[in-house]
Amino acid sequence: MTKKNQNRELSIKNNLKTYQGESCHKGHLGIRRIHNHECMDCMREYLRSDRGHAYKRAKQRQLKEENPFRYKFNQLRHNAKTRKILWSISFEDFCMIPMDRCPVFNTKLNLYNDDMFHNATLDRTNSAKGYEIGNVVWMSWRANVIKGNYSLYEIKAVEDYLKTLEENEL
Ligand SMILES: [Zn+2]
Repeated sequence: MTKKNQNRELSIKNNLKTYQGESCHKGHLGIRRIHNHECMDCMREYLRSDRGHAYKRAKQRQLKEENPFRYKFNQLRHNAKTRKILWSISFEDFCMIPMDRCPVFNTKLNLYNDDMFHNATLDRTNSAKGYEIGNVVWMSWRANVIKGNYSLYEIKAVEDYLKTLEENEL
């Protein structure tokens, strides 16, 4: 497929077309949305403005309230992308990952909660691999932080130390 055809298909998919007529009130001659002739250059400028940012934030807040799973999915996928970690989980599969109790502390998990310790975070079992089905489990934030920051040796060492303290108290 040629580049031109690719762009054409993308435009059809996103309901856009190159406007072949007068420029918009700001003088843009770029692509427009088909149904309302909205200028995409103006749209882009708006989304970069302060008002645009406030609009995007309000939209995200709304999504978080109305569809917390979708919001979490977007957030995690975006984080993975910025950290350059492979993400290959579809939203449908994402919703099927069992979330009941933290596999480490056995505490009840919640997507969003005042007590962030027990908020669910998606942990990669093997951190050398990306986010893929079979390599991810829901885990409490607290367990994930400990798992991600300390080696088994360090955790054991702290455990041994705390045990000797306990024994000395007796
Ligand atoms: Zn414009």
